[in-house]
Order: sequence, then structure tokens, then C-alpha cells
Amino acid sequence: MDRRSFLIGAGAAGTLALGTAAGYWRWQEITPHIYTPGQAEGHFLRDRKSLPAPSEEINTDVVILGSGIAGLTAAWKLNKEGHRNFVVIDGPQAYGNAAGGRFGDLAYPTGAHYLPLPSMESVHVRELLHDLGIIQKNPMARRPYYDERCILHAPEDRLLYKGRWQEGIIPREGVQRWEIEQQDRFFKEVERIRSLRGSDGKRLFAIPLVLSSADPAWRALDRLSFEEWLAQQGYNAPTLLWHINYCCRDDYGAEFDQVSAWAGLHYFCSRGGEAENAHASAWLTWPGGLDVIASGMNKAAGNHRRTGTAMSLRKTANGVEALCLELNANGVRSFTVKARRAICAMPLFVAARIITDMSGFGFDAKRDLPPYAPWMVANFLVKELPGERPQAPLSWDNVVYQGKGLGYVVSTHQDIRVTPPRETVFTAYIALTGQSPTEARRWLVAAAPDELLDLAASDLTAAYGIQFGRYVQRADITLRGHAMAIPHIGFLSTKGMQALRDADGPLLFAHADLSGLSVFEEAAWWGYQAALKVLRG
Ligand SMILES: Cc1cc2nc3c(=O)[nH]c(=O)nc-3n(C[C@H](O)[C@H](O)[C@H](O)COP(=O)(O)OP(=O)(O)OC[C@H]3O[C@@H](n4cnc5c(N)ncnc54)[C@H](O)[C@@H]3O)c2cc1C
Repeated sequence: MDRRSFLIGAGAAGTLALGTAAGYWRWQEITPHIYTPGQAEGHFLRDRKSLPAPSEEINTDVVILGSGIAGLTAAWKLNKEGHRNFVVIDGPQAYGNAAGGRFGDLAYPTGAHYLPLPSMESVHVRELLHDLGIIQKNPMARRPYYDERCILHAPEDRLLYKGRWQEGIIPREGVQRWEIEQQDRFFKEVERIRSLRGSDGKRLFAIPLVLSSADPAWRALDRLSFEEWLAQQGYNAPTLLWHINYCCRDDYGAEFDQVSAWAGLHYFCSRGGEAENAHASAWLTWPGGLDVIASGMNKAAGNHRRTGTAMSLRKTANGVEALCLELNANGVRSFTVKARRAICAMPLFVAARIITDMSGFGFDAKRDLPPYAPWMVANFLVKELPGERPQAPLSWDNVVYQGKGLGYVVSTHQDIRVTPPRETVFTAYIALTGQSPTEARRWLVAAAPDELLDLAASDLTAAYGIQFGRYVQRADITLRGHAMAIPHIGFLSTKGMQALRDADGPLLFAHADLSGLSVFEEAAWWGYQAALKVLRG
């Protein structure tokens, strides 16, 4: 059978044969659409291909290089404070890891998809969410009032364990008593640590991370892996260890033996935002994931974005000069941007390539760059909801115990219409752990489309069987080879990082990489700090 793009017309849907064989053959017919943001631009950078002579010169006060959450936060804050002489250069992907897409009316994320309720320390996020209308009342109070439409609706999540769905993502039903007791002990300990303060009076684990206590006794945890710490504490219940490892894969793109114990505890102990109109561990989400927030930020920033990717960035007598590449259907062009200051809101591995004197900041790329986790995000347009096992209904997040992926979210979950739409998008997340990031990236580059599809769909086929294929109208897979920095063992003492955080000259830095772990609040924090530096003059 020829492999061809698989688009089932509405009329054909009713004639589909049901059953496993049909499902199998449908899989054979699906040709996924593969997207690799940054690949084309990356080739220019890596191979140092020569660019055509610049055909345009842009002069501005501030150039923001990158339109991810960090770059957009800087842009929003500058615009809000009346500093409007700036340009945002998108880089290879507008909105970066917060980007999304659409199948007609159906929006879906191709990266980040939720936001926890911001902590008390995350005043920058509270201010932003208030400006965007997501916090409707009392943004700085312990319990702000949120737009109900953004608060994750029930049923929130479920886990497929021993062939049965159960609520939540830690196995409880069918688990031996000693394991349950150990799970409870762990979560009680998390609660205890969450309320502790270090010798400097600060909370041990805060978001943003830089506001955490510097108490050396706790910082010492950065010298061991989270797995080692758990073993030291006597945690050995397989279900608990699976859950904790899942959380590390889900938030950090790495297994717990690769993650700093400090970062592991940060995941569990740093959050704690509350809402007047939601329960304490509620999440904020949108059908298109954080793309919705990013678009709102872009609008609130006065829409100063334009396409282009910086290929080089250097200091000049009057400020900075960036040489940018623009790739589009008409071919390749280049342009220069001259500015008084640049906010480098691209990942640090890119900054280290394009900035001519990165070592002048005391940043040694070989020594200081983090390992980057490769990810796949797959969006499956389904023509109708597949049949479910009876125990727990389809939830926003659906996870398979010991699954290869991190589960799948349902894009229409927040749909407040009484009748759920017939079509929806299942977004499956896969962090390529279990091998080194370099090996995983090699695999991503070499893998055939059907191999990528098999991995992308593995949790869905575990949940619905091979016949899931007959529901799929289209599959789009986004490959993010350097998706996020892994908070590896020792990441807190990365030598050159502090200099980049503190930089206050013509070049400023703003990206989640400065924190060493990739979450919205951290990215936004660095964008906010860069904007404050510009505003100070
Ligand atoms: C699959 C996935 C799911 C995630 N889910 C969540 C989630 O649900 N919640 C959450 O809080 N976090 C999540 N994250 C973490 C997410 O990375 C952060 O929340 C945040 O979006 C990072 O923003 P950033 O601005 O630091 O970086 P990025 O998103 O990496 O943005 C970098 C920007 O720089 C640009 N750029 C790159 N090179 C150049 C260049 N040479 N010149 C100019 N610009 C350039 C890019 O185009 C991009 O616009 C997820 C991450 C991934 C990979």
C-alpha cells in the first residue's frame, strides 16, 4: 500500500471498517507532517554559509532577539512603561516553546500548554496576567480572582495503570499498602519542606529560582542526583519512584538520575499559588496552550515583532549591531539592526554561537552550557472521540503508567459548550530520555517519519489500541532538538551564568536558560529584569 497523507473526508468516515485490522492499516496510511523549528536557520549558523549583502538597515533603541516568553515579557514591560522605541526579532520560531497551531477552528499547543497559579514571589507573572485580563481581581493578594475560562476544568488528569484508568497521575488503586504509605510520607515531607526557610530567612525553594534561599546546607543537594537523594531518604516504592521520575521527565526533560536533587525538590516544593475561585493546585490552560498568552503578550507589547534570525551580534562604538537572516518563500535576504542595547532572548547555546565576545562575560560555552533535552510534540486531529474504558472519563491530561511518552492532552477540554465538539486534537508529549541528549538528537535526525509517528502515538495506542489510527485525520509532529536546559547535577554552580544574569551593558540576557530550568515564570522573570535595566537607562 502506498504511504500517503491521510485525510478522511466526513463522508468517508461512516464507511470505515471498525476493528483492529482496520486500525492497523490506517496507521500504515498516515504520513505525519514533520516540523523542525530552527533547522534551516541552524544550518546557516553551523555551516557558516555566506549570507547575501544586507538589503536593509534598521535603527532602534533596543533590539530584542527572540520572541519566546522572555523576549515577549521584556517587550510587554517596555511598552507598558512607555518605552516604545524597540524591535523584536522573532528568530526561527515566533513564541518559541510557547508556540501553537490550528487545524481550522481547533487550536493546539506545539510546546508549553499550562501555567500553575503563580506563587507569591512571582509578582512579575501576576502583573502580566492582570494586564492580560487573566487575573481579574486582586493580582498581588494571596488569592487573586482568575478568569474562570482559564482555570483547568475537571476532570483534570488520569492514569492508565494495570489496564484501568484512575484519577490523578500517581497509582493508588491496586497498589500495595506499604507503597501507599511511602507515597503519603513523601508528600508530607514535601509539605514540610515547602514551609521551611533557610538560614538567610528566605523560602528554601522559590519561583523565580533566584529568590530561593542560599542556605549552603540545602544548596549542597545540588551535588547529588534526585534519585540518590530519594534513596538516601529510604524511598523505594516503585509507584512513587515512577511518579517522581515522570515529573522530572515532564518538567525537565530528563530522568531523575540526571537531575539535580535541588532541582527535583524545587519542582515539588516551590509552587503553592492560590486563587479565590479555584483549588490550590489548580492550573491555567487554554486550547492553544501558552500560544494564547504569547499572542496576548505580543498585543500588549504593541506588536513590535518582525521576522528574522540573528546570525551575529557584536558591540560597536555606539551600542550593538546584529546581522539577521530572513528565509521565506522568496528566498534568502539579510538585514542589519543597529541599536543602543540588545536583549538576547534566544537560548544560550545560540547566544554562544552568534555573540562575538561571549567569553568577555566570563562565559565559557564548553564549561557552562547546560545539556539540552530533545522533545517531540505530536498533534493528532481526530474526527471523533475514541471509545473509552469505563473507569475514569477522558481528562485534560491522560498519562500511561510506564508509557514511553508523557501522555496526551485534549485541546477542547476547556470547551464550555454543553455538547463536546465532534473533532478534537490530542497532543502527545515525548521527552527523549533514557539516552544521552546527543544520541537522542541523532536519532531524531535519522528517524523515518513512521518511526517518529510510532513513538509519538505510543501512549495513545497503549490507551486505545491500534484502532486509534482509524480516528486520526492528520498527525503533525514538532521536533525540538534543543527544547530545554536540563537542571543537571551541579547546575546551580555553573560558573559563567551569574555574569550573564548581571550583565547591564549594551548586551543584556533574558531566557529561561539563565535559571537552568525551563518554566514560564523563569523565562518571564529574566525578560522582566532586562526591561527594568533598559528602563533604568
Ligand atoms: C514541549 C515543551 C512543553 C513545555 N510545557 C511547558 C508548560 O506547560 N508550562 C511551562 O511553564 N513551561 C513549559 N515549557 C517550558 C518553556 O520552555 C518555557 O515556559 C518558556 O516558554 C521558555 O521561554 P523562553 O523565552 O525562555 O525561550 P524559548 O521559548 O526557547 O524562546 C526563544 C526565542 O528565541 C528565538 N531565537 C532563537 N535563535 C534566535 C536567533 N539567532 N535570533 C533571534 N531569535 C532567536 C526563538 O525563535 C524563540 O522565539 C515547555 C517546554 C517544552 C519544550
